[in-house]
Amino acid sequence: MGAIALYARKTARFDALVESATRVLREAARDHAGTIVQGTSLGVEDMVITDLIARAQLPIALGTLETGMLHEQTVALIPRIKDRYGIDVEVYKPQTDAVIHFVKTHGDRAMYESIDLRKACCGIRKIEPLGRMMEGRTAWITGLRREQSDNRAEVPFTELDAQGRTKVAPLADWSWADVWHYVQLHDVPYNPLHDEFMPSIGCAPCTRAIAVGEPFRAGRWWWEDAGAKECGLHTSQGEDDDPVVSRLPEPAVSMIGDRR
Ligand code: SF4
Repeated sequence: MGAIALYARKTARFDALVESATRVLREAARDHAGTIVQGTSLGVEDMVITDLIARAQLPIALGTLETGMLHEQTVALIPRIKDRYGIDVEVYKPQTDAVIHFVKTHGDRAMYESIDLRKACCGIRKIEPLGRMMEGRTAWITGLRREQSDNRAEVPFTELDAQGRTKVAPLADWSWADVWHYVQLHDVPYNPLHDEFMPSIGCAPCTRAIAVGEPFRAGRWWWEDAGAKECGLHTSQGEDDDPVVSRLPEPAVSMIGDRR
């Protein structure tokens, strides 16, 4: 049984959420005309945002970080976006020399050895390419939701990032049920790994399936403490303060087992 069957549910506030998210996107596109990009992880939230952008025909560029370590199912979504929406996705890859040097020095399993090495890998494969994506840009759109983790429990719709650029989270107040209802309603393309109990999908070596009741991001860097579970793309002051716990909810129609 797939994620739509398990989680899609129309909540009482769904229509208002769609209207609000579209308004947030419209205002961001207006305020940052020509200098705004959706930094899509190709996760389901970002696919919903791309659909909202396309539906409203907003002048917002799309960019993604192809780390060289993504699942093939994730990479396959890039041409699907072009096919479905007619929008080119800017693909940012890490510097080849930096990757070769890192792997030669630390091996290809360095991320499991220490948080510092894991963050160094994220630095080369994600943070540096993100810097190139953001060159000349004043705003970026992300799929962050408050429900995703304790660290994200107070994500605002717009904030300034550490570089002073506007960071927009149009789905900040959406629930997991809202996201999947939207996917079902509009037949949004999504990563089939979401059907394999991976609500949060990153690089292949750093993502595993989770079980009901585990935190949404428990499958990311699962060998580390919860407080370290960010790659540096979305860390900012105060994110670690909120005690709210957000977990993969019970599916509406049947239990799913522990697929780890
Ligand atoms: Fe490297 Fe894992 Fe970070 Fe991907 S998520 S860049 S593989 S440490």
